[in-house]
Amino acid sequence: MKNNSQISSKQAIELEEKYGAHNYHPLPVVLSRGEGVFVWDVEGKRYYDFLSAYSAVNQGHCHPRIVSALTEQAGRLALTSRAFHNDVLGLFEKYINEVFGYDKVLPMNTGAEAVETAIKLCRKWAYQKKGVPENQAKIVVCENNFHGRTTTIVSFSNDPVATKDYGPYTPGFIRIPYNDTDALEQALKDPDVAGFLFEPIQGEAGVFVPDEGYLKKTHELCKQNNVLYIADEVQTGIARTGKMLACEHEGVRPDIVILGKAISGGMYPVSAVLADDDIMLVIKPGQHGSTFGGNPVAAKVAMAALDVIREEKLAERAEKLGELLRRELRAIKSEMLTLVRGKGLLNAIVIHPKGDKEAIDVCLKMAELGLLAKPTHGDKIRFAPPLVITEEQLMECVDIIKKALQSFE
Ligand code: PMP
Repeated sequence: MKNNSQISSKQAIELEEKYGAHNYHPLPVVLSRGEGVFVWDVEGKRYYDFLSAYSAVNQGHCHPRIVSALTEQAGRLALTSRAFHNDVLGLFEKYINEVFGYDKVLPMNTGAEAVETAIKLCRKWAYQKKGVPENQAKIVVCENNFHGRTTTIVSFSNDPVATKDYGPYTPGFIRIPYNDTDALEQALKDPDVAGFLFEPIQGEAGVFVPDEGYLKKTHELCKQNNVLYIADEVQTGIARTGKMLACEHEGVRPDIVILGKAISGGMYPVSAVLADDDIMLVIKPGQHGSTFGGNPVAAKVAMAALDVIREEKLAERAEKLGELLRRELRAIKSEMLTLVRGKGLLNAIVIHPKGDKEAIDVCLKMAELGLLAKPTHGDKIRFAPPLVITEEQLMECVDIIKKALQSFE
């Protein structure tokens, strides 16, 4: 495939190094085109995308339906701000509430902004509905969480890379171990606790799946203690784990749902917070917002992206192909591959170093063989392809992963 890049990979990397902030350390691959499960670098080499932009591109790269929603609306009306109404937002709001079964949605742009919104909503609810004394509300969070990069969100992270030298930190959070219902029960004895904010599966921590029953039990505990159950489904939501929301695996309905990433198929920054009226309506006009949140392009793109998930039955596909992927990965014989875990098409392997070869070397080898993935926390590699991948393509990917691992034997 001919590419239209003006520059080589080497030049692109040099430009970023010289002119961009050094807040990321990407694999040395420069991409210029994407379609479905594939991306191409500027030299025309094709790769399977096994990261999907951290699960934003569940519908596949450049899905024609989502591209046309974007371009059509961009040529008609892109942004009004919320100072005026627009003729798309209400349609999107009705649609998303029907899909997820909530009364109200508050649209934002990035995942972190939606998490911030949920925190503010929870605090206001605590003072206005639960009767927590002013400025005393607390939110329980989990160790090894990842909810974004704002000052408040990193305040309750325990990852030194995310927090060091960013203080002073925002107070009002209690951190407990993940996958520990006793710890939650203990923490909820404090009457000023207003919410429990958690990931149904910890994505950035390396796809850590809690024990069966954890979601159900923690939900019960929150109900008993009049504490809001706040699910960050930014990475797990929108069919990634085999259900529209990962909480559905245990039949649990959160009080507040946080969505981002794949809600737009990765086409545009769209995020959203869902809740029922008794919670959402504590925020009154002027008390929260965003210039871009709920703009007509975002609204059109998100409707198209959700249409694709439903019409192409991507949740069912993720569930089925996830089982197959884990089964095939577990059958690979390699000393370096110590653990395979995940749900649906959100998976990770844990790599045991061999000599000086570690997870990053496995990723570089896979890239050479035509598959892109990236290590997280040193020894874990996430495998999260676009959900439109076919069984045949998935088996080809298993073969690449196997070859890469076995090249170090
Ligand atoms: N919550 C979770 C669970 C996430 O995985 C992420 C991103 N990896 C975020 C929030 C933050 O999203 P964003 O990068 O769009 O701010």
